[in-house]
Amino acid sequence: MGRYTDSVCRQCRREGEKLFLKGDRCYSEKCAIERKPYVPGMHGQGRRQKASEYGLQLREKQKTKRIYGLMEKQFRNYFKKADRQKGVTGENLLRLLERRLDNVVYRLGFAASRKEARQLVNHGHFTLNGKKANIPSILVRVGDVIQVRESSKNSPKFQEIKEQAAYRTPPEWLTVDVENMAGTVLSYPSREQIDTPVSEQFIVELYSR
Ligand code: SF4
Repeated sequence: MGRYTDSVCRQCRREGEKLFLKGDRCYSEKCAIERKPYVPGMHGQGRRQKASEYGLQLREKQKTKRIYGLMEKQFRNYFKKADRQKGVTGENLLRLLERRLDNVVYRLGFAASRKEARQLVNHGHFTLNGKKANIPSILVRVGDVIQVRESSKNSPKFQEIKEQAAYRTPPEWLTVDVENMAGTVLSYPSREQIDTPVSEQFIVELYSR
């Protein structure tokens, strides 16, 4: 499977805004975009050209892909699926992305970033409805229960995660039981419940060209 080889912070600088890809560091003064608020590369500090309509559409798509850590092919497949569903395609797309297991683990506060969530899922630290689930792209359903595996709960890593999770509030469509390190999907998120700072309509326009 393909993956981004660019430095993570470079992706934020490319988009000109914080995408919060690195957990705690993003909230500290070490954040690269705070220190170097210009596009990476030789001409990064030059004048930025006014973006064309296509440019704007492309940037929103790239930004969304980066936030959820997806490659083009996977992302396009989500779009195709969203387009086949009833309702507003852009919203369907974001809802599908939010339902990914790695995103849900992140939203529940069991990882500091989606990247870390993906790693933890890959390493088999979670169960879905009591069964081991190590595929980050699984789409959760209403009523699903996501839990840290018994064998992982007492590790120093998860003890630390537990402490931090106590200070985080999940979105309304999820509920968390920090003590048992479990979360439940109450509903699928509405657009208002997804705080991802993207204009999904631009993505729809881009793929409809
Ligand atoms: Fe982006 Fe976080 Fe890096 Fe800042 S620290 S540039 S928000 S990934």
